[in-house]
Order: sequence, then structure tokens, then C-alpha cells
Amino acid sequence: MPSSDSRLGLLIVVSGPSGTGKTTLCRKACESGQAVFSVSCTTRPPRPGEVDGKDYFFLTEEDFLARVDRGELFEYARVHNRWYGTLKSYVAENLRKGIDVLMDIDVQGAAQVRGCEDELVTKCLTDIFVMPPSLEELRARLSGRGTDSAEVVELRLKNAEAEMKHWRDYRYCLVSDTRESDEARFRAILQAERMRSSLRE
Ligand code: 5GP
Repeated sequence: MPSSDSRLGLLIVVSGPSGTGKTTLCRKACESGQAVFSVSCTTRPPRPGEVDGKDYFFLTEEDFLARVDRGELFEYARVHNRWYGTLKSYVAENLRKGIDVLMDIDVQGAAQVRGCEDELVTKCLTDIFVMPPSLEELRARLSGRGTDSAEVVELRLKNAEAEMKHWRDYRYCLVSDTRESDEARFRAILQAERMRSSLRE
């Protein structure tokens, strides 16, 4: 008989264009204490207010590629002309302890995680694509954020269109609406997924 408290953690891969609020959704879900955010490595410079080790591990290109060579990364991809990747050790340790891990990664990284043949990952994996309500709204959100130059906003919008073609590869598609509605639907997905029988040993 499965007990109520013994299960593996869920590995929740969340993708979608920058500006859909997916990072905020992931961070919020972690506030409950039931899940941890997988802090990625990146070679992009920190935005104002971002903290090394909390938002990202900010690495030089040389350090990042050395880690790739040493096989330390679970997945990695070149996104918006920078490297981004997830460290292997962090994910497996938490899943075995029954702690859910949220990964905010792009569609290339998500495909690598889906293709991973590790039994633990296969049992624990679920994925959510967060869609913007429209490209116009996405442009407004990205420009309104005020953290990226006009050139970077344009690059991100172009990449958004390419990313959005992949929404069907994901188990869930959450079309962004108000923040409250997004958070409620995101919570509902996690609540249901936590009852998956594959998480029971
Ligand atoms: P941002 O620079 O806005 O924080 O992130 C840009 C994009 O990189 C987002 O689509 C985000 O999901 C993706 N990203 C962040 N971390 C990772 C990672 O570890 N791996 C991959 N593949 N993508 C990531």
C-alpha cells in the first residue's frame, strides 16, 4: 500500500518564451517549501538585482565549456547567443529525497531531458509549456520589464516564435492570463502530478 509521505520528487520542466512569467511561476511554487528551483549555470551577465548562486551560477564561457567537457551538465543549450545549463548532481539528489525540482529551461534543454534514459528521470519527469496570450502582449511585457535593450528584446521575440512551435511536445500547455490565474493553474498541475503512481517505489 502506498503511504501518503513516501514518494520520489517530481522533475518539472517548464519552458516558454522569456516574458511569459514562467520564472516567477517556478519561484512561487518553491515558496511552499515542497519544491526547489534548479539554479542553472549561464554565461550571460547578471541583470540588476540578480544574485550569483540564487538566480543563476554566472560563469565565464571558459568555465562553462570546461564543465561540459567534464560531463557535469545534465543538459545545456545555446539560447539568445549565451550558454545555459543544469548541473547533474543537484537534480538526482533532490528527486531521491522526495523533493520536487523545477527546471526553467528552453525547448532544446527540455528535449535533452525527455531523451534522457535514466530511469529516475523517466519516472519523475513532467513538463509544462507556458504560452504568452499573444506576441503583441509578449512584446509589451518584455519591453515593460526594462531590463533588456531594444536589440535583446527583438532577439527574444524572434526566438519566442521559434520556441512556440514546440508547445505540443509538452504534457501541459498553460496559456498565460492574469498572474493569479496562471499561479492557480500551475498549482493545480503540480497537485495532480504529485499523485502519479510512478513516483511511488
Ligand atoms: P533568461 O536569460 O531570460 O534568464 O533565460 C533565457 C532562456 O534560457 C529562458 O528560456 C530559460 O528558460 C532558458 N534557460 C535558463 N536556464 C537554462 C538551462 O539551464 N538550460 C536550458 N537549456 N535553458 C535554460
